[in-house]
Amino acid sequence: MLKLDFHPSGRHFLQIPGPSPVPDRILRAMSLPTIDHRGPEFGALGLELLAKVKKIFKTEHPVVIYPASGTGAWEAALANTMSPGDQVLMFETGHFATLWQKMALRLDLKPEFIGLPGYEGWRQGVQANMIQERLNNDPEHAIKAVCVVHNETSTGVTSDIAAVRKAIDATGHPALLIVDTISGLASADYRHDEWGVDVTVSGSQKGLMLPPGISFNALSPKAIQVSQHARLPKSFWAWDEILEANQRGYWPYTPSTNLLYGLNEALDMLLDEGIEHVLARHQRWAAGVRTAVEAWGLEIQCQDPTLYSPVLTGVVMPEGVDADEIRKIIYERFDLSLGMGLGKAKGKMFRIGHLGDCNDLTLIATLGGCEAGMKLAGVNLQSSGVTAALDYFAKNPLSTGTSER
Ligand SMILES: *Cc1c(COP(=O)(O)O)cnc(C)c1O
Repeated sequence: MLKLDFHPSGRHFLQIPGPSPVPDRILRAMSLPTIDHRGPEFGALGLELLAKVKKIFKTEHPVVIYPASGTGAWEAALANTMSPGDQVLMFETGHFATLWQKMALRLDLKPEFIGLPGYEGWRQGVQANMIQERLNNDPEHAIKAVCVVHNETSTGVTSDIAAVRKAIDATGHPALLIVDTISGLASADYRHDEWGVDVTVSGSQKGLMLPPGISFNALSPKAIQVSQHARLPKSFWAWDEILEANQRGYWPYTPSTNLLYGLNEALDMLLDEGIEHVLARHQRWAAGVRTAVEAWGLEIQCQDPTLYSPVLTGVVMPEGVDADEIRKIIYERFDLSLGMGLGKAKGKMFRIGHLGDCNDLTLIATLGGCEAGMKLAGVNLQSSGVTAALDYFAKNPLSTGTSER
């Protein structure tokens, strides 16, 4: 597998939009001995982290934690709130929205997948007016949920969740609002309670800086109420037994003990820094990376500057250039992993992750790998993106925030 000119010394640059690099402090916390998950120490840990995690979702209501990847939490959100044959309204923002819609089909739901036509829809966010129009045409309230992706990781486009809430409210429609912020949490602004979200789905391996393996459902009182009558089969995912056990800091089955040590550490790191500071740090990195893309003379996948993702940037390759070929060169020559184009975007673009445990120089190195790789592949670049980003970072220091704990 290893090429002769490949020197795996130093650290690999894991600049995909999840899994993101795991800080040493979290790895160390996870290396502690596994304890009895029914014992008193574990109960205390459980209570502590279940309280702290609410601050990240900005909610006063319960957050359920699963030993599963994000996909499991997608399923949990639907299985706990829907009944067989229920209609759900989903919006095509990109590959992850498409996968969620396929899951809804497999779960015996009737997803209606709306969006802007063709590939253009993958360069824009959720159009709240289209949701409003569709709900206005559902006087019988057959649609039981509106499901949208907050930070579409396949494209680097965010969506305005508050606008979706407003659109639903304007119709007086009772559909639940279910939001995937698997890659947005702890990197992009997110407010479960304020935005009136009924179920928020998230995961561990993106902004939370943890390895993959745990995922989340943040609930609203309405979602909990609806779950009491929802008839899709569920057992492992069922909120009721978990919420019951969580009251004492436990789970009905063996939780991911060591990943939860990591979560507790990650929550301390994020809350000590202050969430607003964490968000500002991501916005600044994203702006620096966009400065580089602009200097190269290349296009950004997201076409609406108000929706640029603070988590990742999709870099569109010129006509005739295979983005996967570029990624391969960059990986083999510079030990740097970038995100590939997924689904409709395959081969057309690559994705630079700028989330979690990064700093200015990690991103300068990342941009350096991109720039060198594109040059090696013969891509015509207008000017140096690395220099432009370095200037941006030098001229725009991040003001220090205050702790919110
Ligand atoms: C990563 C991701 C998922 C899938 O999560 P897994 O942990 O791979 O199951 C779903 N939606 C979005 C927006 C994601 O970024």
